[in-house]
Amino acid sequence: MSLTILEQAHALAPELQILRRKLHAMPEFGLQLPKTLEVILEQITGLGEISLGKSITSAVLLIKGDTEGPTVLLRADMDALAVIEDTNLEYAATNGFMHACGHDLHMAMGVGAAKILASRKSELKGDVIILFQPGEEGHHGADVMIEEDALMVSGSKPIRAYGLHVFSSYPLGMMGSRAGALMASAGDLLVTVSGSGGHGSMPWLSKDPISVLNEIMSAIPTMITKRFNAFDPVIVNIGWVRAGDPATTNVIPESASFGATVRVFSAENADKLKNYTQELVSSIAKGFGLTASVEFTRATKVLLNDAAAIKSVEKVTAELFGPGRYLNLPTPIAGGEDFASILAEVPGAFVFMGACPPGIDHTQAATNHSNKAVFDDAVLGDGAALLATLAIDALS
Ligand SMILES: [Zn+2]
Ligand SMILES: [Zn+2]
Repeated sequence: MSLTILEQAHALAPELQILRRKLHAMPEFGLQLPKTLEVILEQITGLGEISLGKSITSAVLLIKGDTEGPTVLLRADMDALAVIEDTNLEYAATNGFMHACGHDLHMAMGVGAAKILASRKSELKGDVIILFQPGEEGHHGADVMIEEDALMVSGSKPIRAYGLHVFSSYPLGMMGSRAGALMASAGDLLVTVSGSGGHGSMPWLSKDPISVLNEIMSAIPTMITKRFNAFDPVIVNIGWVRAGDPATTNVIPESASFGATVRVFSAENADKLKNYTQELVSSIAKGFGLTASVEFTRATKVLLNDAAAIKSVEKVTAELFGPGRYLNLPTPIAGGEDFASILAEVPGAFVFMGACPPGIDHTQAATNHSNKAVFDDAVLGDGAALLATLAIDALS
C-alpha cells in the first residue's frame, strides 16, 4: 500500500529533526555558508540535478517529472543571524551566530519536500526546482540567485513559487497568509546634515547641524501623518543618531546624522516616501542655511501573494491537515523578506507556520530574531508535506 504525502512526510520527520538540529548547531552568516551548503548537498545529492551558485553558496535542485510540463519553484533560506544564542537547548549554537529566524527548519523542510517529490516523479506533470538560498537576512540573497539565473535552471521560468516561514511566537502547527501584501518593503534611510563647526559659546558664527537634525527628526512623523493615507501605513523608526563628541560640550560639530528603518506596503508609498523625505530634509536644512543628504539603501520589495496561489494554499492545507489549521490573515506584517523578489518574478505565495513549543504561551514566547527564540521541530513533517503538495498541485 502506498503512503500518502503526509504519511511519507511524518515517516521522514525523525531524520529531518536530526538534520535540523545539526544545522542549528552550526549557523553561518550572510551569503557565504560553505559548511551549511555541504550538509545540504549531502542530503540532496541523487535526488535530481544540482546547480551551484557562482558568487554565493546557493544550490538549486531540479527534480524532473516523468511527464513534461511547466516548472514550479520552492525555496528554503539558509542563513543565520549575528545573535548569541541563549536557549539552553542541547543543540544550541556556540559560535556567536544563531538560527534565530528558523531558517534551519526551512532547510530541513526543503530537504523533506525534495525527498518526497523525488520519490513521486511519476505524479509530477512538470519539473520542480528547490532553491536553497543564503543571505536572506538583509543580504539580498534572493536577488543574487535571480541575477545568477537560478530561476531558469529547468529551461523555463517557473509558473508558481512557494515558500514557508516558521514563527516561534505563533501557535504550533497553525498556518496563515493572505492575498496581496503579506510583508513590508524594508529598507534603511540615512540622513546627514552638513554645517560648519565652531565654538559652542558663539553658535551664530557656525552652522549647527545638531539642531537642524533635531528639526528633521521631529518633522518626519508629522510628514507621515499628514501626507500618507493612514490605511496604507508607512513606518520610519530612527535606530541611531550620531553627532558631536561626548568628551566635550562646547564644540559645534560639522555634521550630524541618523539612520532609520523604513517599512512600506506599496510601491506607490515607497516612491512617495523617497520624494517627500528628500523635499522635507533639504527644505529644513536650507531654512537654517545648511545642506543635507538623504540616502535610501536597497530595500526588499513588498511581498505580494498571488490570489490564485493563496486559493491553492487554502485548498491544499484543508486537504492535508483538515479544517481550522489555515487562517487568512487580516493584515500584513511589517517584517521584510527577500522572497518578495522571487514573487515579483513568479506568481506564488509565502505561508507562515507557527512553531511555538508546547507548554509555552505563544503570546509570551520569544519572537524570531530573539536570542531566546525556540522553534518546535514537530512542524518539520507538516512543512515538508505542505511544500511537496503545493508543488504537485501547481503542476496538475
Ligand atoms: Zn529573519
Ligand atoms: Zn527569516
